[in-house]
Amino acid sequence: MNSPEPDKALDFLPRKSTVSLSRHRSQGIDESEMAGFKAGFAAGREQTEATLLQQLEREKLINKIALQVFQSPDLAYILHIAVTEVRLFLQADRVLIERFEEDERVGVIAESIDPAWKPCLNLSFAGLWCNQRLAWYEQGNNEVVDDCTQLLPDKALGFPPALQAAARLAIPILRDGLLWGVLSVHQCRNSRTWQASEINLLEQLTTQLAIAIHHSELHHEIQHLNDHLESEVEARTIQLQQAYEFEATLKRITDRVRDSLDVDLILQTAIRELAIVMKIPGCNASLYDLEQGTSTTCYEYTSFLSPYQGKVSKFSAAQELYDQLLRGEYFQFCSLSPNPERGMVAMLACPILDDQGVIGDLWAIHDPDHYFSEQDIRLVKQVANQCSIAIRQAYLYTKVQKEVRTLERLNQLKDDFLSTVSHELRTPLSNIKMAIHMLRTAPSPERQERYLKILEAECSRETELINDLLDLQRLENDSYRVSPEPIQLQTWLPGIMSPFISRAQSRQQHLQVEIPQDMPTIASDRKSLERILAELLNNACKYTSPDGAIALSVRYIHAGDPADYQLHYQSTEPVDIAKFVIRNEAEIPASEIPRMFEKFYRIPKSDPWQQGGTGLGLALIKKLVETLQGSIAADSQNGWTILTVHLPILEAVPES
Ligand code: ATP
Ligand code: MG
Repeated sequence: MNSPEPDKALDFLPRKSTVSLSRHRSQGIDESEMAGFKAGFAAGREQTEATLLQQLEREKLINKIALQVFQSPDLAYILHIAVTEVRLFLQADRVLIERFEEDERVGVIAESIDPAWKPCLNLSFAGLWCNQRLAWYEQGNNEVVDDCTQLLPDKALGFPPALQAAARLAIPILRDGLLWGVLSVHQCRNSRTWQASEINLLEQLTTQLAIAIHHSELHHEIQHLNDHLESEVEARTIQLQQAYEFEATLKRITDRVRDSLDVDLILQTAIRELAIVMKIPGCNASLYDLEQGTSTTCYEYTSFLSPYQGKVSKFSAAQELYDQLLRGEYFQFCSLSPNPERGMVAMLACPILDDQGVIGDLWAIHDPDHYFSEQDIRLVKQVANQCSIAIRQAYLYTKVQKEVRTLERLNQLKDDFLSTVSHELRTPLSNIKMAIHMLRTAPSPERQERYLKILEAECSRETELINDLLDLQRLENDSYRVSPEPIQLQTWLPGIMSPFISRAQSRQQHLQVEIPQDMPTIASDRKSLERILAELLNNACKYTSPDGAIALSVRYIHAGDPADYQLHYQSTEPVDIAKFVIRNEAEIPASEIPRMFEKFYRIPKSDPWQQGGTGLGLALIKKLVETLQGSIAADSQNGWTILTVHLPILEAVPES
């Protein structure tokens, strides 16, 4: 609103002298007052004293109000004190503090009123009355109306009837030269001639009020800043507290998880702790089998959900989710349609991964409208990281443990082997030593001959033993060379059998050989096959009682015979097989059969005829058979022991 022109402002003045508006603020005690004072002095001491007393009272009032308002930063209280004290002092009907509002209205923000009149507190007025006065007050002018009924009609227009004012004295409250509000004193029951001293009093008071308002606003500003600072400090403290709690929780979970080398226990601890800390109704952990494309829920902590523990899920059943997890990405979502087992739930899924890949996942489950916060996600991710470290450690530990056990077993085998070998090597040597000693002192040539035979036998036993050991070592190192050649079994086999036939005869054993007339020529390593058959026939002769029966049968199995082929020969290509079966009348316990092929193992009490042996024979020929890509199996039942050898017909080396 523009300031009114001076003459327009004058136009605002009423015509009657009883109503006036002072354009300028009064300058303390004015001339008329001084004149009155002088006249009073002249008139008499009493009047002088009364005037002085009045002035003193005014100053006391100012001091009193100033003292009270400066003691409080509360603006409402300041204004309340001011209007109350002024009304009492001036014996007015109503004292108001008015403020011009943004929408060109005047609002009453403080009021002291004689109970006979209607209160106007919190009322606001608009219109011409407000517009006329705003610019007037903004220029620092007072409004002095002794008789409101005398206001010019156009100026009276809009004068708020609610004020019920018969006389009005209004002083602007200026803060830093700007209009803050108006202190107005109203006489309601009759008109009133406002005294200069009263105007002066109110002017001093508005100055004090402006200072107090300024203080109050400053105080509120500081208060506001303080509050702001405090809330910032509080927010920061909460953040720090949360960060501290987060770290403490993570440390606790990490310590517990890392304490264990058992994968199940690691996941169980992590899931339980997460569920409790996050106050969620469900949480589970799964491990992946990447080859099978499955995820198995290893542990679940839940208070109400149907259990998933042990459940195996195929990646393909929720390909989109697992694709994301396998890429190492976490995500949260809420099921759009209710899950048949769990209904509607909100879920946060996080992969358990490290630089070697994804091991599994962690799932946090909540009510459908729940949103997992950044803090929740951070915690789940960190726990998943800790789990991956702990699980890798556990896997490594298990692997190392297994290797240690294997090494221990191998070491034990080596120790056993060395002690057996040294024992077996020493036995013939002791016999040789003894035979030499006996030879020296032999009383007759017959005796000498006998000891020489013993010497020969023990020497060849030692040689055989050493040869067997060397062969076994070569076979184990894969440095044993085989060269297949065509073998006509019908002509070749009798030569192999001949020593065993005479040996069997010497012990009254019955040895039979069965070979089909149309047996095709086979291709195999001749030396190896001879050794295999010789060892099997040797054992059969050794462990069969006198009068017992021994039989060797040979068969040719064509690749087209799938039953036998499948059973005994594992190969991708179909191949013809030569099958050798040696039976002898002797039974061994079923529990001993797997051990027959162990190095240096001899079945206790199985050699009642003291034929002797080192227990290396079967171990050696088993290796030989395997080198020829065949298989050997033993069986014993109904008084018979049966050893069966399947040899594939190798491709013969062409004869040069
Ligand atoms: P080596 O063959 O080194 O001279 P060995 O004959 O005792 O000694 P293996 O041929 O490896 O050793 O046989 C291991 C054990 O299996 C034998 O000691 C014997 O108890 C048992 N055994 C092997 N073949 C037969 C068989 N045909 N009948 C009964 N028992 C057998
Ligand atoms: Mg043997």
